[in-house]
Amino acid sequence: MAVPKRKTSPHRRGNRRSHDALKVEAFHECTNCGELKRPHHLCGACGHYNGREIVAPAA
Ligand SMILES: [Zn+2]
Repeated sequence: MAVPKRKTSPHRRGNRRSHDALKVEAFHECTNCGELKRPHHLCGACGHYNGREIVAPAA
C-alpha cells in the first residue's frame, strides 16, 4: 500500500487549506422567477419571499 513518506507539516497543511474557505454569496437566484436577489430579502422582480408572494410586482 502506498503511504506518505512524511507527515504533512502544519505549514503545508495550512497552505493547502488556504483556498478552502466558503465565501458568503452576496446574490442568489430567486426560487420563483430566477432573478438575482439578496439573501433574506424580498425579491425585487416578483415580490416573493420564501415561496409566497408578499407584495405585488411593480408594473
Ligand atoms: Zn423573484
